[in-house]
Amino acid sequence: MSLALYRKYRPSIFADVIGQEHVTTPLSNALSSGSTHHAYLFSGPRGCGKTSSARIMARSLNCEKGPTPNPCGDCQSCKDLVANGPGSLDVIELDAATHGLVDDARDLRDKAFFAPVQSKYKIYIIDEAHQLGPGAANALLKVVEEPPPHVIFIFATTEPEKLISTIRSRTHHYPFRLVPPGILTTHLEKICAFEGAEVAKGVVPLVVRASGGSVRDALSILGQLLAGAGPDGVSYEIALQLLGFTDGALLDDAIDAIAARDGATLFKTVDRVIESGHDPRRFTSDLLERLRDLMIVDALTETNANSILRDLPDDQLERMRNQSQRIGSANLSRAADIAAEGLTQMRGATAPRLILELICGRILLPGGDTSESGLLSRIERLERAENLAPMSNAQTSVKQSPVKQSSSVGVDDFKEVLPKSSSQSEKIAPVETVVEQVVKAEVKKAPVKASIGMDIAGLRRVWPDVIEDVKKRRRLTWSLLSASAQVLGLDDSAITIGIVNAGARDSFIRSESDVILRQAFVDVVGIDRKIEVVVDASINPNTPQARETRVDESPSDVEQLSGHALLAKELGAQIITEGK
Ligand SMILES: [Zn+2]
Repeated sequence: MSLALYRKYRPSIFADVIGQEHVTTPLSNALSSGSTHHAYLFSGPRGCGKTSSARIMARSLNCEKGPTPNPCGDCQSCKDLVANGPGSLDVIELDAATHGLVDDARDLRDKAFFAPVQSKYKIYIIDEAHQLGPGAANALLKVVEEPPPHVIFIFATTEPEKLISTIRSRTHHYPFRLVPPGILTTHLEKICAFEGAEVAKGVVPLVVRASGGSVRDALSILGQLLAGAGPDGVSYEIALQLLGFTDGALLDDAIDAIAARDGATLFKTVDRVIESGHDPRRFTSDLLERLRDLMIVDALTETNANSILRDLPDDQLERMRNQSQRIGSANLSRAADIAAEGLTQMRGATAPRLILELICGRILLPGGDTSESGLLSRIERLERAENLAPMSNAQTSVKQSPVKQSSSVGVDDFKEVLPKSSSQSEKIAPVETVVEQVVKAEVKKAPVKASIGMDIAGLRRVWPDVIEDVKKRRRLTWSLLSASAQVLGLDDSAITIGIVNAGARDSFIRSESDVILRQAFVDVVGIDRKIEVVVDASINPNTPQARETRVDESPSDVEQLSGHALLAKELGAQIITEGK
């Protein structure tokens, strides 16, 4: 059995401690200038380098050429105190967690006055210092108050506020922090390279996320993954399974279903979340995080989003760009509000699954509230409806009855039974009924729903790959589909595609793009079905392609014109050679 990664890569000098420069720099300066103190307090979350740093501090103090931030590495003390070395008689580690330390503290008080055996200082490292019992703390206090010149204390704790104040006030306090994802990612990548390990893209970010910023946890997870790696190294799928993560596919399915306003698939996805043993709270928190990421993608340019969400693989980022476009800014923000509120309600709730379903139900009902975000998402949907209807008619009807226009789900029917922000929502009986009603309404709304073999969620998941395949076959078809179309249905005979407006749909049919798309489905998914195309106004009109079609012309010409305008703009001369 090889040495655990965390031990193998434990630092021996401050320069090798990652992500704690705010602590290691002043400590190094104090060592250089000889202005060291007799008692230190290292606080911070577990696994972020407190104990390692305490040992490095001891090594730096006791080096023959020290105190120095760059211990020589050659003297006896440096060799004894190197990471995983034998240790030194003059550096005494005590763990307050294992026993109250009462006896040890008295022993320490008595022995502290003896000179160190072979080094400059006698250094006491007291781990989990907040667990010192009152007796031990008092015994120690005497020495900490008036320490012999050769004694130095380093207290390490996750809960500095619990350390008795008479000791705490005599220390120099250095708070350690969780390591930011970017720094931890670089660190893990270096270690993978050093270990010669083949690790698929996206695996390291998963490990970083699972570790929550603790270096020790990150290395222990990575060690487990490397130990179980096959001949091709660590694959993304294996990492996902092993880490007990909310399966990215489940998350993608949920978001795709929200984008398509497909309640049936969304609730089916919740079902799969529960059945596969995922924690609904964890899933909701991941969903919230994903909605946040989508908002970032939505708000920023490609380059900026890439630099902020740098932990994500490129293909995932591309998928999310597509998802954010389809959902729209206001809907995203509102969905995030609902998820955040639901997450709070889940704390201590006995039926978290029910709350998760309620969250999904509320996300699917954009007309159901009068908050600013609710109104905004209603406007967003109105704009989509307007995109479909002849301009003049749409505008008048918008003024007349916005609520009826905005909702195809029958919001008014649910308004009264749907609790808006009740913290006891799991106790409200009709919740399940509401959820069922939403499902039924959504099922009725979707044009084609029968799914045999591969289901529609699976089809949506591979949709970006299908589009990529189409792009290779014919750019014209690709430009009609990318960001302006989505999968609406699948049955034994056909795959139904929704396209943003009639102009684009007609162009699609005239150019016989259905043949291209059909072939792409065969190649990517292995499903051979006739392609049916319908107009789907729920697709976000704020995408470049869709915007192109919103030409201010007389209604009858709009659709014809827009189709040509789209093609002409996107393809230039290619339209001629491609033919129609
Ligand atoms: Zn040395």
